Amino acid sequence: MKSHQRQYLQEMDIAVWLDKKAPVATRQNISIEDNTESILKPDNIMPVFTAELNSLAQKVAICQQCSLHESRTQTVFGVGDPDADWFVIGEAPGADEDRQGEPFVGRAGQLLNAMLLAIGLRRKQVFIANILKCRPPHNRDPKPDEVIACESYLRQQLSLIKPKIILAVGRVAAQNLLKSDTPIGKMRGHCYPCPGSDLPVVVTYHPAYLLRSPREKRKVWADLKFAMQTYKAMT
Ligand code: SF4
Repeated sequence: MKSHQRQYLQEMDIAVWLDKKAPVATRQNISIEDNTESILKPDNIMPVFTAELNSLAQKVAICQQCSLHESRTQTVFGVGDPDADWFVIGEAPGADEDRQGEPFVGRAGQLLNAMLLAIGLRRKQVFIANILKCRPPHNRDPKPDEVIACESYLRQQLSLIKPKIILAVGRVAAQNLLKSDTPIGKMRGHCYPCPGSDLPVVVTYHPAYLLRSPREKRKVWADLKFAMQTYKAMT
């Protein structure tokens, strides 16, 4: 196991058993490349969007299909590799995301980066978006009419990017994506077909929830390993 992978697992509160013969990572021998702080921050250089994805982002930027356009600072289209195999779907932009125009920033974003890195994925290797592209006021749950109004953008993102697997993070993302009212605890550990496509969907907890309930990180680690097994079985 590489030292940086060990660090990310520790960030996730996952116990790591070291091979006695393996060199132990210390503050001195962790290189800049392996520095968790810097590596978990949002990547400054993200892959360039394709023309089709850019054109969709421009459409979203001026969308007024639901009342959320009135209170948003800006739309939050999504970031990442337009050719990604992994598509991470969250709920909706929060205050930081609304201000910065990027999904999963701040502490929850850093924890999502750590979750991805624990299974060997960098933020720029996946595509990250939300069910809603505009922030609901006071971070309330999305309303059904808002989800319906915004749904076609997510469908178009999926059809342009053509990922191989979807990781739905959090109850709101999982239930809206899968059109289900099953509690998230019961959705975990299974692979679902994404309605409207055959894409496999794996569900896990939202990093913002993990910040409030760090004991659940072990369950997320199990979900991530399950997602990686599902992905490998497909490729
Ligand atoms: S949430 Fe979606 S549908 Fe509503 S205004 Fe924003 S982009 Fe349009």
